[in-house]
Amino acid sequence: MTDITAPLTERATAAFAAQSAGIVTRRLTFGLAERRAALDRLAAAIRVNESALVAAMAADFGKPETEVILTEVLPVMQEIRHASRQLRRWMRPRRVAPTLVTFGTRARVRSEPRGVCLIIAPWNYPFNLAIGPLVSALAAGNSAIIKPSEMAPATSAVVARLIKDTFPAELVTVVEGGVEASQSLLALPFDHIFFTGSPAVGKIVMAAASKTLASITLELGGKSPTIVGPDADLKRAASWIAFGKFANAGQTCIAPDHVFVHASVKDDFLAALRDRIARTYGTGAKSPHLARIINDRHAERLSGLLRDAIAKGAQVTLGSDRQERRMAPTLIEAITPEMKIDQEEIFGPILPILTYDDIDEVTRRINARPKPLALYVFDKSSERIDHIIATTSSGGVGVNLTMAHFSHTGLPFGGVNSSGIGASHGQDGYRAFSHERAILTNHFSSLPLLFPPYTARVKRLIGLAKRFLG
Ligand code: NAD
Repeated sequence: MTDITAPLTERATAAFAAQSAGIVTRRLTFGLAERRAALDRLAAAIRVNESALVAAMAADFGKPETEVILTEVLPVMQEIRHASRQLRRWMRPRRVAPTLVTFGTRARVRSEPRGVCLIIAPWNYPFNLAIGPLVSALAAGNSAIIKPSEMAPATSAVVARLIKDTFPAELVTVVEGGVEASQSLLALPFDHIFFTGSPAVGKIVMAAASKTLASITLELGGKSPTIVGPDADLKRAASWIAFGKFANAGQTCIAPDHVFVHASVKDDFLAALRDRIARTYGTGAKSPHLARIINDRHAERLSGLLRDAIAKGAQVTLGSDRQERRMAPTLIEAITPEMKIDQEEIFGPILPILTYDDIDEVTRRINARPKPLALYVFDKSSERIDHIIATTSSGGVGVNLTMAHFSHTGLPFGGVNSSGIGASHGQDGYRAFSHERAILTNHFSSLPLLFPPYTARVKRLIGLAKRFLG
């Protein structure tokens, strides 16, 4: 049992030692039935704690109850259900056919738990992004230490209690705290580190992992561009873009960061978007359907982005109303590359609208910047959609929708380079927390025929093999 009054580094080390000590036993005893039982226990604990989670996220950033259920609870429950159902198949060792050189052997791949895993979570989906990866870690047979974000303290406390009431600390435990807690944990030789957060901290995590050569999954962020083509269904585009941008008050890694709209449909698209925003969030900053900005620093950062853009010539065409940490959906135009809003991940309810005539200029611009986590395209022409996909790179793509690719358990979710390394969800999440161990068993291998001394006969046989392989 970890003593919570002990200094942070000691607590982290004790939690790690407790989980490491059980690693061999876990390999032998944490099989299909035990993993499913652990997932069932987790699902039951989530059901019991649902109202506590709703209250915690209301306290942390005024997240509407329905949004908590939709974007925090449901995705995790779906992951649990999918993993439970598919686990037998995922765990089954994979037979591999023999090759010419390994004839007479039996080859198989066993997916094995990596061991003791560290999950570091961000504040913006403080439940989903702490517990979602845990589902994959448990499904793959690991133990895990979770470090929730200190910036959503009420949710962090519920996560800590939920885990403490549900699992022995040797299997799953939570170490609460901020940068210091994170760094104490990162100094330990974890088998796998699963980090969700900003690209800047992602680099710190990768540097820490390089000290022990821990494997890593980095789920990072960035500016996800959205393209509204000349033939898009504008009403549909407006409703998906408004949902993607203003859910969680825009504090979403895969929120549309900015929109490129084709000049021929710009006015109609803006009219549809304004209409959608008015109908959904009529009361602006005070709307009960809008979450708050997480803290004063971030609210001030967002106001600063607006001030900087306006000073450099941008025009706010809707919103900008901010009441302390509540901010109305805001549309801004006449953006130029000198503005900070065009350079940094916005991570708030401000949507820059840019106009284009030539799609190749848009894709060139996208390609000149760090690879985004998501790219959204709204159009009816599959030729234009395919062209955009083929000429760019991003973690994932949404066509005529936003955000929903996150909730498809059959799709890998992750970034590429600066938006992330590795993938999560479903079997991809299971693989992230597994080691694919290759096992080759000899029955009547003919390879000894090629062992030294390299006589003329050996040379002749190698020559034959070479000729056979072309
Ligand atoms: P963050 O990187 O500031 O913090 C994430 C975690 O790292 C927190 O638990 C924090 O305590 C810890 N941390 C912060 N500084 C650290 C340091 N110097 N050393 C070690 N640990 C440290 O991110 P955030 O502000 O919580 O979240 C927002 C960012 O996360 C955005 O960039 C967003 O795009 C990204 N994000 C990505 C995904 C995804 O799935 N790809 C999901 C959500 C958020």
